[in-house]
Amino acid sequence: MHFSEFAEALAKLSETTKRLEMIDILANLFRKTDKNLIDKIVYMIQGKIHPDYMGIEIGVAEKLASKAISSVSGASVEKIEELASKLGDLGSAAEQILMKKAQLTLFSEPLTVEKVYSALDRAARASGSGAQETKLRILAGLLNQSSPLEAKFIVRLVVGTLRLGVADYTILDGLAEAFVGGKENRAVIERAYNLSSDLGLVAKVLVEKGFDELKKFGPEVGRPIRPMLAERLTRAEEVLEKIGNDVSVEYKLDGERVQVHKNGDRITLFSRRLENITHHYPDVVKISRESISLDKCIVEGEIVAFNPETGELLPFQELMHRRRKYDVEKVMEEIPAMVYFFDILVVDGMDLTQQPYLTRRSMLTKYVKENLYAKIVPNIITRNPEEIEAFMNQAISDGCEGVVVKDVNSVYRAGAREFSWIKLKREYRSELADTLDLVIVGAFYGKGRRTGKYGAFLLAAYDKDRDMFESISKVGTGFKDEDFDTFQKILEPYKITHRHSRVDSKIEPDVWFVPAIVIEVIASEITLSPIHTAGYGLIKKNAGLALRFPKFTGRIRDDKGPEDATTVDEIIELYQRKLTKIAAEDVDVDKV
Ligand code: ATP
Repeated sequence: MHFSEFAEALAKLSETTKRLEMIDILANLFRKTDKNLIDKIVYMIQGKIHPDYMGIEIGVAEKLASKAISSVSGASVEKIEELASKLGDLGSAAEQILMKKAQLTLFSEPLTVEKVYSALDRAARASGSGAQETKLRILAGLLNQSSPLEAKFIVRLVVGTLRLGVADYTILDGLAEAFVGGKENRAVIERAYNLSSDLGLVAKVLVEKGFDELKKFGPEVGRPIRPMLAERLTRAEEVLEKIGNDVSVEYKLDGERVQVHKNGDRITLFSRRLENITHHYPDVVKISRESISLDKCIVEGEIVAFNPETGELLPFQELMHRRRKYDVEKVMEEIPAMVYFFDILVVDGMDLTQQPYLTRRSMLTKYVKENLYAKIVPNIITRNPEEIEAFMNQAISDGCEGVVVKDVNSVYRAGAREFSWIKLKREYRSELADTLDLVIVGAFYGKGRRTGKYGAFLLAAYDKDRDMFESISKVGTGFKDEDFDTFQKILEPYKITHRHSRVDSKIEPDVWFVPAIVIEVIASEITLSPIHTAGYGLIKKNAGLALRFPKFTGRIRDDKGPEDATTVDEIIELYQRKLTKIAAEDVDVDKV
C-alpha cells in the first residue's frame, strides 16, 4: 500500500472532529488495507508503532527532527523552528518547506506503508551511543523520498504529535464498520481489545483469522488486561439497592494497582495505565514469585507501602516517592512494599474472567500463600448495610481509604466501570464525597514570594466523547512551597507556547501545558460557571461546571494518564446527585 494513500486518510481525519465522519474515513481505509498491514496501520493511527505495554517508542526529539528536515531541504534549523512555532507544529513546517523543494525533485520510488513502518521500527529500536545518529539518518532517508503531505505525517509520528483526536473506541467502531457490519457486532471486538490492550493485534486477528476466531479471543499472560473499575456511591443502602444481592465488602487499599503476569519464573508487572512497571518493583516481583503457587497466571492486587515492624500501612505518597528515586535497591529498604491481592484472572492459561466473583476469590485463596509481604485483601460477605458501615470503619482505622463492594455473582468486565464494583470512601466533610483526578493544562505565575514561579494551576476534566480536556477549576490551595518546586520540574517537558489542541478553555493562563500530569483535588461542591468549559451547555445554556473551594490533596497521580482523569460525565453525575439531594431536603422542609 502506498504511504500517500495512508497520509491522505490521516489528513482527512485531522480535518474533522465529527465521530461519524471519522468512523467512515477509518472504515474506508481499513477496507483497502492489505491484510498483513492492518495492525501497522492501526498502531500508526494511534500515533505509535507498538502497543503501549511493550514500551517501544520512536522517541525522536523535535530538535533532531528539525535537523533531518534541514538536511533534506537545505533550510536552516532556526528557520524550520521559527516556521514550526508560527504554524503551531513541526509537521506543518516540514510540509511547507518540502513543498518548495518538491517542485525541483522527482521522486524516485513511492514510499510504501511497509517501508515507513519498518524504518520507524528500526529508529525506535536504535539504542546506545550511536542511537541519535541512526535515528537522524533513518528519518532523513524517509523525508528524502516523501511528498510534502507524507513528510507532515511522518514528522508528527516521530515526534509524537500526531494527535488525530481519534479515540481507541472510534478505531473499534471503524473496524466494526469495515468488517462486521457495524455497531451490532462491535462488542466482540471491544471485548478482545479489553482483554489484550492491543488494538493492532485485535485488527489482525479479525482480518486474518475472521470474526468467529475473534469471538474465541481470550486473555494471555504477558498482555495486560484493561482493568475493571469501580463506580462510586456514598451510602451502604444505596450500594445494596444497586446490586440487589449478596455483596463482598473488601478493604480498599490506598496504593498502586498492579497486574502480575507470571509465566514460569518470568514475572511482569503492569500498572493501572498498562505500563510495564516491573523495573520499579523488584521486591514485588520477588513477593509474587514466592507467594503465587501457579506456573502461568494473571493476578491483580494493590501495592502498598508499609512498616514491616508494626505492620502499619503508609500513605500512598510514600509509595510514589519510590517512583521518583533512581536507586531502587536503596529505596526498597527505606520504603518497603507489600501486596494485597484481590483478583485472579487467568489460572494455568485458563480464562477466569467469565467466572463469578466467588469462584475467582476461592481460586485466589487457593493459590496465593500469605506471608508478611503478601496478603489476600480482607473481606466479608453480607447483605446488611450496618455490617458494611462497620467493616468500612474498621478498614479506615487500619489505614485504608474505605471499601470496595463487589457483587458476588459478577464476572470480571475488563475495561468497564460498572455498578458491580462500587467504592465507598470515608465521608469528607463537604458536599463532594470523593476526590477528583484532574489534568494540569496551564499555570499562573504567583505573587510575593512566588513571583516568577507558578502559584496556581488550570485544571481540566476529560470529555470522553469529544476526546478533549475541558477546564473546570483554577487551584492554588493545598500546595506546600516544595510542591510548587516539584511541579515546576515535572511540568517543564510539557510546556508549550499555545493552548493545546485537545484543551478547551476560555481562560488564558500564563503558561500552557500538554495534558499529561494528573493531580488529585478535593472541593466543597460543583457549581455552574460561565467561564469553565467542562460540560458546557449540557446542564444549562452558556454555562459549564466548576469547583468551589478546590484544594490539592498533596497527591500527584503518576499512576494515571490524562485520559484516566475524572470524566466530564462523572462530574455531571456528581452535580446531578447534589441537586437530587437538595430537592429531597426541600421536601423535608416543606413537611415541617
Ligand atoms: P479509578 O481507578 O476507579 O479510576 P482511582 O484510581 O482514583 O479511580 P479509586 O477510584 O479510588 O481509584 O478506586 C479504584 C482503585 O482502588 C482500583 O483501581 C485499585 O487500584 C484500588 N483498590 C484498592 N483496593 C481494592 C480492592 N479490594 N478491589 C479493587 N480495587 C481496589
